[in-house]
Amino acid sequence: MKKALITGAAGFLGSHLCDRFIAEGHHVIGMDNLITGDIKNIEHLFHLERFEFFHHDVTKFVHVPGRMDYILHFASPASPIDYLKIPIETLKVGSLGTLNLLGLARDHKARILVASTSEVYGDPLVHPQNEDYYGNVSPIGPRGVYDEAKRFMESITMAYHRHHGLDTRIVRIFNTYGSRMRLNDGRVVPAFIGQALRGEDLTVFGDGSQTRSFTYIDDQVEGIYRLLMSDHVEPINIGNPDETTILEFAEEIIKLTGTNQKIIFKPLPKDDPLQRQPDITRAREILGWEPKVHRSEGLKKVYEYFKSLSQDELYQAHRDFQS
Ligand code: UDP
Repeated sequence: MKKALITGAAGFLGSHLCDRFIAEGHHVIGMDNLITGDIKNIEHLFHLERFEFFHHDVTKFVHVPGRMDYILHFASPASPIDYLKIPIETLKVGSLGTLNLLGLARDHKARILVASTSEVYGDPLVHPQNEDYYGNVSPIGPRGVYDEAKRFMESITMAYHRHHGLDTRIVRIFNTYGSRMRLNDGRVVPAFIGQALRGEDLTVFGDGSQTRSFTYIDDQVEGIYRLLMSDHVEPINIGNPDETTILEFAEEIIKLTGTNQKIIFKPLPKDDPLQRQPDITRAREILGWEPKVHRSEGLKKVYEYFKSLSQDELYQAHRDFQS
């Protein structure tokens, strides 16, 4: 049995990773400051002896006693709405938080995997994006707090690897969806499904010609797990190359939910990338990984999840978002 520390454990990706590590028979230490995470996402693990939870902010000194084999750093706001609301925290968790966890990994001689993002490519001039592309990011734009924190995260992780010989992994995560996404985080999947469930029009930003490629959570977790178990140190893209425009995506959600609402257009947020599609040649060749869940199948599952939420949750989340 290995011992893994997962930061951001109460978040969307973090909580699914906790589930996977528990299912693999490992001991999991979850850590979260609960700014954007929700304890409900991991409550079902609390009765397990192999699960511990620390309510802690990783930008403060992190101490975990005893042995540790793996650290997965997934603590960070991850939606444009969140990092516009809490920009300083976003910068700190990607920079100071990463620094603290790299130090912890050194102390414990643990392997560390850090969660980077397709946002390191910014508004990409290369399509699809492969790992050798350096990106097109504005350091001072509204997304800069997230993008640059993650670019720093990659940089300091490689420095710890080269300078201290630390055993490191870097995953570049593309848009991922699944259960436990927050209805009020502003990301397009919960936004559109939430609107359909509340009987509101679907808000497409810009003319909807911008593209994204959506990965189902189970595929994402499988890719991350394989990367951790591999010996590959350079960054790897994990994402589904199946690209769609946001307008087509809105139409897909209307069909899926059977809503009678229409599509309305709102201004495109500043620095919203116009296209995004991962080149997953490396993941295929090195990890033997590729996505298995088609968008139509994944969306059905996530729709069932959002439908199962209470009316209170559906409307409360919406009110928080509006405020
Ligand atoms: N988007 C939209 N309507 C919404 C929320 C998002 O049209 O209500 C668009 C957004 O402008 C972006 C895409 O959907 O082009 C994906 O947005 P999301 O916030 O999910 O992720 P990111 O922009 O970080 O890829």
